[in-house]
Amino acid sequence: MLATRRNKQMRFWRKLLASIFLGVLAASLLLGLLESGRALAQTPATYTVQPGDTLFVIANRLGVELAELAAANGIADVNVIAVGQVLLIPGAESSLPVIVARPGDSLADLALRLGTTVEQLAALNQMEPAIRLFPGQPVQIPPEAPGDTELRFGAVTNVRLPSQIVQGRTGRLAVQSSRPLSLTATWNGLSLGIQPLSATVASGWEGTLLPTSALLGPGFFPLEIGYAAGNGNILSRTFSVLVSAGPYDSQLIELPDGKGSLLDPEFTQPEIEKLYALWAVNDTPLLWSEPFSRPIGLEYPTTSPYGTRRSYNGGPYSSYHTGQDFGAPATVTVTVPGAGIVALAEALNVRGNAVVIDHGAGVFTGYWHLSKIFVTTGQVVATGDPLGLVGTTGLSTGNHLHWELRIYGVAVEPLQFLEEGVGEWRVEIGD
Ligand SMILES: [Zn+2]
Repeated sequence: MLATRRNKQMRFWRKLLASIFLGVLAASLLLGLLESGRALAQTPATYTVQPGDTLFVIANRLGVELAELAAANGIADVNVIAVGQVLLIPGAESSLPVIVARPGDSLADLALRLGTTVEQLAALNQMEPAIRLFPGQPVQIPPEAPGDTELRFGAVTNVRLPSQIVQGRTGRLAVQSSRPLSLTATWNGLSLGIQPLSATVASGWEGTLLPTSALLGPGFFPLEIGYAAGNGNILSRTFSVLVSAGPYDSQLIELPDGKGSLLDPEFTQPEIEKLYALWAVNDTPLLWSEPFSRPIGLEYPTTSPYGTRRSYNGGPYSSYHTGQDFGAPATVTVTVPGAGIVALAEALNVRGNAVVIDHGAGVFTGYWHLSKIFVTTGQVVATGDPLGLVGTTGLSTGNHLHWELRIYGVAVEPLQFLEEGVGEWRVEIGD
């Protein structure tokens, strides 16, 4: 009997999840899903953010408190959510973290990625171990998020970290200590500098940004925080941060015969090496704190968003669009979005006339395919300064601005920083 009921439940979920995946789920149907979800024991209740949603509207629709919904999802700024972001609904059946299945995933794949066992995942989700998962299907995973008591160690009195980061977006880490420490943070193998936060925050807080690529995860990734104690020993603690699925599309790019040579390493590699060497510099002090201003007028729309996964000539989807493209004529001025120092201003093979600005703390912005460059390497620039004109130089098929944001070399979603500055840390810390 039970098995039959579960089979029915699974069929029900398959149908519903397939609808979600196809993006044809209307709000009314969604409410139906949630109500049905409550009737199913152990069913994780989640909601995928749709275009036009705000957290306020979602909270109202689901009948939960805005603050509760934000807290359950580690959302510090209720104005910042992403289409495709999967939200846990507080007060629903499950308080366990949820991971979203990717195309082709089995429970065994998830178990391997999460460092757990098929049996544990099967038991948590009341599933058969060999069950086929559907893309977008939520799967409950063992709790890994540290409790309050675990957010202190040695002279570190408080650690603020996001419970979840959407692929391609940037999280923030803040650490408070009882005395000055030389702190280090390693995020998924990336060594991050930690530096004092704005002078207006309570003393003893330091922090850093946690970048994720559009291809990272979904899954848990380690964040290790440590410092050298007086006796020379390193005291450290490792936390797990959930990276959840982003809203990105996929794109097949066919390069005509002959143009394929444009992807030859001989043509592309020198500038990649040059840029990665630049992006590895992270000892410039933080030069900016407020949200960035748009580098190009609002009247110039996005023609290709950040994060689209790309396959060239039928190869694997192993790369993604590293920036945001805005279509505009070649007469349009591109402006500096926030204070910084020009780190590069020259013609490159693939990226054409290129400008890179170092904003400090490992944060760089890049501007490709310009028709004219107005700045020179080493120049100190301020918000709103003209840096060049839109163009179609390099490997480009029409006039547009490609704007990208690199943090410790990782290309992250730049639009997030039009809404958030590093000053937002103050809000998260609560003073
Ligand atoms: Zn682009």
